[in-house]
Amino acid sequence: MIAAGLPAVLGTADAGRYLSDIKALSAPSMEGRGAGTKGIARAAHLLEARYKSLGLKPAGTNSYLQPFTVITGAELKGNNRLSVQISDAKKELKVNQDFVPFSFSSSGSVSGPVVFAGYGASADEFKYDDYADLDVKDKIVVVLRYEPEGFAAKSDNHGLTRHSQVVTKAINARNHGAKAIILVNGKLAGEEEDLLTRFGSVSGPEDVGIVFVQVKNAVAEEWFQAAGKSLTEVQKGINASSKPASFSFPENIHISMNVSIASTRATVNNVLAYLPGKTDEYVIIGAHYDHLGRGNFDSLAPSQIGQIHPGADDNASGTAGVLELARLYAPLQGQLQRGILFCSFAGEELGLLGSAHWVKEPTLPLDKAVAMLNMDMIGRIKDKKVFIGGVGTGSTFKGILDDAGTKSGLKLEYSQGGYSASDHTSFVAKKIPVLFFFSGLHSDYHKPSDTWDKINPNDAVTLLDMVSDVATQLANAQQRPTFVNVVEDRPGGTSGGGGGYGPYFGSIPDFGQVENGVRFSDVRPGSPAAKAGLKAGDVLVQFGNQPIRNLYDFTDVLRRSKVGDVVEVKVLRDGQPVTAKVKLEQRK
Ligand SMILES: [Zn+2]
Ligand SMILES: [Zn+2]
Repeated sequence: MIAAGLPAVLGTADAGRYLSDIKALSAPSMEGRGAGTKGIARAAHLLEARYKSLGLKPAGTNSYLQPFTVITGAELKGNNRLSVQISDAKKELKVNQDFVPFSFSSSGSVSGPVVFAGYGASADEFKYDDYADLDVKDKIVVVLRYEPEGFAAKSDNHGLTRHSQVVTKAINARNHGAKAIILVNGKLAGEEEDLLTRFGSVSGPEDVGIVFVQVKNAVAEEWFQAAGKSLTEVQKGINASSKPASFSFPENIHISMNVSIASTRATVNNVLAYLPGKTDEYVIIGAHYDHLGRGNFDSLAPSQIGQIHPGADDNASGTAGVLELARLYAPLQGQLQRGILFCSFAGEELGLLGSAHWVKEPTLPLDKAVAMLNMDMIGRIKDKKVFIGGVGTGSTFKGILDDAGTKSGLKLEYSQGGYSASDHTSFVAKKIPVLFFFSGLHSDYHKPSDTWDKINPNDAVTLLDMVSDVATQLANAQQRPTFVNVVEDRPGGTSGGGGGYGPYFGSIPDFGQVENGVRFSDVRPGSPAAKAGLKAGDVLVQFGNQPIRNLYDFTDVLRRSKVGDVVEVKVLRDGQPVTAKVKLEQRK
């Protein structure tokens, strides 16, 4: 028993309790904790009730909760129609039967002449351009799915290239001045049926900036026949010759359509609890608790979309870890030098939205946060190995980790940089030192098979005790760690695409943004963007002669650029246009 007035001692994490929290968070009633589901609201309630019962202080905007709005998808709303007139014969097509809009299509009415633009590809690297000598300005372009058969053999990994992606086709058509784009499947493999793409099943920007629908082969075949051609034969010709076969349909073919799409939105909640220390400085311990729901976006098991993706490792394992640490720290109210903020973030799977929202509208002063410790997937430790990111971002981290690691018996593998695809990235952009704890990827990642029975709770609680050791040292140290801007030796794309991202630019996009353009949450030191004077907070709106509306546009134009190109870019800085010349470099 602890005598009154003496400081309580930090307990140790309990494997049984930890696993039962993971079980609860990944139970079927939690519906995979997808944004907009009742399940994620249940998870938020569980977290709030736990923080409350531990006697921690509410640290949200609405008690323990900090609500914010996310876009969860899109729906067809109102009048979606497409009519075709060939000479005097007019035909109304049926939505979801003869045609379907893509969820990232613009809304609006379009009519006009029709042009066939092959696969809709402009591929300088293969010296192939379906738009060469073709005037599509203010016209409706018809394109084939996939890409010319010769591309794969010439590509780096012998697979389909980015030119096969429908978003790439839409951006390319828009950049050529077309006002709508119509996709057809064309040639089908073996017994394959000519199916329309299920609405909402292909992810893209909220609005790609052009009206974009798909029609069935049989619908388009009538247009080809009216032009004295055959869809099948034209496609065969392109594939046999590796040469474009674009043409304008005769003027007696006229298409008019109306597309009406509304974004669906949902309110989700960060859940935040505070343990006060003796001063107003604090350490953040966080984990995202949202997951993919039924996998409509980002499932890595496309054939199982619709099934609950329980996300036991991603990231019930980190969420339960924060709960377990909250339980250990709760009796130490007012006893540590610095306080501890426990954060359960929502919206991570949609692009780090919860943490981005918190740093934008922090519920405690940002400058008092001395470090952020993030746990995302800590439940599958193998051979005692744990990966720790961000070690270089805080001046005192290495010493503290070496010490805590030795005591724990875990094998720690360090990386220095603080940027990767989880919530700590939002904090490093605000120059807060971060540590990211991770037990590694596995074949159940983002699939319905990420279940609680595959969790290794014994090693996870060893890690939790190590994290609490680190957190206590940070909370009690005389000096807070100084933030270090790590120059990473391997600046990759932020969405982990590896190669194929084009030359190196050096900006970190802000995933939480909503305006037109691409907001930089940061610019990497020493990068081409930094050398050109671009800064955190700038919103990129133009790259060379292409307008930039979103991250997809930026990625597309960057991939079309070459190392050594000097590009004039336009950014908005505090609302004012600023131009800069950026010399693109080689990714190392
Ligand atoms: Zn995760
Ligand atoms: Zn995930």
